[in-house]
Amino acid sequence: MMEKLFIYNTLSRTKEEFKAINPPFVGMYVCGPTVYSDVHLGNCRTFMSFDIIYRYLLHLGYKVRYVRNITDAGHLEGDADVGEDKISKKAKLAQLEPMEIVQKYTVGFRDIMALFNTLPPSIEPTATGHIIEQQEIAKKIIDNGLAYESNGTVYFDVEKFAKTNNYTALTNRKLEELLENTRDLEGQDDKKGRLDFALWIKAKPEHLMKWPSPWGVGFPGWHIECSAMSTKYLGEQFDIHGGGMDLQATHHTNEIAQNIAYCGKSPANYWLHTNMLTVNGQKMSKSLGNSFLPIELFTGQHPLLNKGFTPMTVRFFMMQTHYRSTLDFSNEALEASEKAYNRLMDSYKTLQSLKPSGTSTDIVSKLQKDCYEAMNDDFNTPVLIAHLFEAVRIINSANDKKMSLTQKDIDLLHRIYQHFVFDVMGLKKDEETGKAYKALEGVMNLVLSLRDKAKSNKDFTTSDEIRNNLTALNIQVKDSKEGTAWSI
Ligand code: AMP
Ligand code: ZN
Repeated sequence: MMEKLFIYNTLSRTKEEFKAINPPFVGMYVCGPTVYSDVHLGNCRTFMSFDIIYRYLLHLGYKVRYVRNITDAGHLEGDADVGEDKISKKAKLAQLEPMEIVQKYTVGFRDIMALFNTLPPSIEPTATGHIIEQQEIAKKIIDNGLAYESNGTVYFDVEKFAKTNNYTALTNRKLEELLENTRDLEGQDDKKGRLDFALWIKAKPEHLMKWPSPWGVGFPGWHIECSAMSTKYLGEQFDIHGGGMDLQATHHTNEIAQNIAYCGKSPANYWLHTNMLTVNGQKMSKSLGNSFLPIELFTGQHPLLNKGFTPMTVRFFMMQTHYRSTLDFSNEALEASEKAYNRLMDSYKTLQSLKPSGTSTDIVSKLQKDCYEAMNDDFNTPVLIAHLFEAVRIINSANDKKMSLTQKDIDLLHRIYQHFVFDVMGLKKDEETGKAYKALEGVMNLVLSLRDKAKSNKDFTTSDEIRNNLTALNIQVKDSKEGTAWSI
């Protein structure tokens, strides 16, 4: 990817060409969450990064069609994952319908996104709602000679594709290297080549989420769903395709191969990958057991946390690092973000009471230009924030009568806050959600101290009643030597 990315270049059109399209249109596809469990903070980082991009494009006046899918079928991770769909597995364990699992985590995901003030996408298609489209693409790739059916499963022929196409365009890795690093796997004897991946997978009898197909009963591969949904809603070629960095080497590489094999075109003009949120330098991931749920962060109920942080503090924390750099999670970093965010918001309050005086300087209009330049340079939010703190400095100096501002300057500072702090960064003026979590923390401390009192009076009926009622509200209470902890 290029080092410097300007908006007009990002969309591979000149400024003039943009003006000619009315309204200028941008198609953006972002790989959405897999809804077999709660999203963790790392997932949220990726979705918040694309929210800023979406918001900035809207702010510039583009008509954006932002498609972000819900992965509710076929999410198999890598070659080792030949077995069961994770949603089916969870449904069996919980004795629920797979679609109950899907519904629960889709609703939970949307709630969390709303708490972070992330705008809903224009279209949120589901993989299960596009089975026919996925089968059509698989059929066409077979017809084009780049996929084959073997014992009810359809595989993409990677080595054949790579003979006439650059399979590793996104990563520049050598095919020989990939072949060397890929083991022959048991249970995949039907594949011709080691790198071949499934477009359609034959379902075992016990599999719950399955559909009829020309190749027998089965379910779609993970990569094909994004090819099907992006093509359906954005066409064969569109402007931006995004997702986390961990999707680049396999999911997106395979998506490009599928699209080229299907219609001869690589789908996106630009691939934007967000870097990982890490904990002590290690990627935050469900499977590594180092993930935080947003709710744990808001309430402070996690062994690694000193206290809770509001959704807006967390959002601000995410934006202090550029989306293409890794971001390490720590209490200290969050506490610093909390202070900085409060300073930014306090100075907005100060701005409301500033009175004009003196003659105009260019300082505020230059600041506005700098903010646009930062965002035009590959959506550089940390540089934008540095400029916004220049606004804070100007406001505070004017308030201390160390500097004078005209009414025009003050109006422009209002616009800078409205456009960049509220519209583009999506930070909220009020802290209603933060206040709600603070109130919950206070209420829980009160309830638990009443329960402690009951226990020390040997009134176990009351203490058990409190615990059971909390459990019914989905609040777990854990007693230990260090005291009582709670979590939702
Ligand atoms: P998943 O639900 O696992 O498919 O992930 C949803 C999105 O979150 C994908 O775009 C992933 O690349 C992204 N993602 C997963 N882990 C992290 C992380 N630690 N930091 C940032 N993004 C992540
Ligand atoms: Zn995808």
